[in-house]
Amino acid sequence: MGDHTMMSEMPEWPEYGDEEAKALLEVLNSGKWGSTSGDVVATFQEEFAEYQQAGHAICLANGTLAIAVALRAAGVGIGDEVIVPPYTFIATASAALFVGAVPVFADVDADTHLLDPAAAEAAITERTKAIVVVHLAGRPADMDAFNVLGAKHGLTIIEDAAQAHGAAYKGRAVGAIGDLGTFSFQSSKNITAGEGGAVLTDNDQLAGTVYSLVNVGRVPGGGWYQHEAVGYNLRLTEFQAAILRVQLRRHPRLQELRERNARLLTDLLSDVDGVQLAPDDPAITAHGRHLFMLRVPGQRDAVLQSLAAAGVTRASSGYVPLHRNAAVLRESKAITDRLGQPYPQADCPNADKVSTDTIWLPQPYLLGTEPQTQALATTLTNAVAS
Ligand SMILES: *Cc1c(COP(=O)(O)O)cnc(C)c1O
Repeated sequence: MGDHTMMSEMPEWPEYGDEEAKALLEVLNSGKWGSTSGDVVATFQEEFAEYQQAGHAICLANGTLAIAVALRAAGVGIGDEVIVPPYTFIATASAALFVGAVPVFADVDADTHLLDPAAAEAAITERTKAIVVVHLAGRPADMDAFNVLGAKHGLTIIEDAAQAHGAAYKGRAVGAIGDLGTFSFQSSKNITAGEGGAVLTDNDQLAGTVYSLVNVGRVPGGGWYQHEAVGYNLRLTEFQAAILRVQLRRHPRLQELRERNARLLTDLLSDVDGVQLAPDDPAITAHGRHLFMLRVPGQRDAVLQSLAAAGVTRASSGYVPLHRNAAVLRESKAITDRLGQPYPQADCPNADKVSTDTIWLPQPYLLGTEPQTQALATTLTNAVAS
């Protein structure tokens, strides 16, 4: 079998089977399709909270609104500044705008693609209320440093863990290391129901506020028309939770497989001229392995073309940095102009640099066999050299 055939036969995502079908049918036949009548969402919330070592998990519609809800629960509102990295999915920044706050961009570390705590601290003003730290690609950010910043400056630390199910920092699962953490169960993510999200926290009061925001202002155990706050309806369906319960059970085995393949890729690529990989870090006790990222300065587009020609068609050039996104800047300035506030000018040279030379291999490329992974490393090596 040639390498091209091997590449096109890489596993599809999601992995699913009879168990998901059975779980879906059970919900269907129960007639309890929503979480206001059934208990599958509640059960999944308990299981997911335990998996991520958090006191509470509250599920909701998606990972984008999870960040907005976390910000609102933390009291972030009109004109407040939220520090975010520019090298991330747009939701990390747009969530601030949804609550009337503005995203302020602080640069990433070029070696890890993660928000740099020193850059975040330099971006703090008297209007800063929160920092959204992204565990990009499944790699946990430096949570000790961010929690120190949170305590020192009175800021809420939110972990955007949309890509980091099962990841751990110094032995602690991500999501409730900061004040609040958010997850996504969208189609591409490592645990998925097509759409969905969750907010995690150890703080009982924040958990109650999140519950209320997701459930039209209701309170746990309260009456149907007892609206103690103004909340959205962002509830997950029982169908989604039924799939998520099965996907959660699949996750440990798949994470182990991704880890093994990522290690092999790292070993095979670390000495290849022109390839730069993120350094190992003993603080990362479990990597979520959502993306395998590599930098190939000066030849990114040519390498992507060679990869596509060799059958690695799902490799991508990744994010365009958000501090250059016209819509985000326009909305941010609209808010600050109305309030007569300045909107800080972003200076993020590392995000600019990595966005020109980074290649992503999405997680299905980490789900192959050992020969497939070796073939992938050979294909990459040849693409870089040619
Ligand atoms: C996927 C993702 C989100 C948003 O999640 P959705 O469920 O798609 O709304 C937020 N942040 C990051 C880093 C993501 O990868």
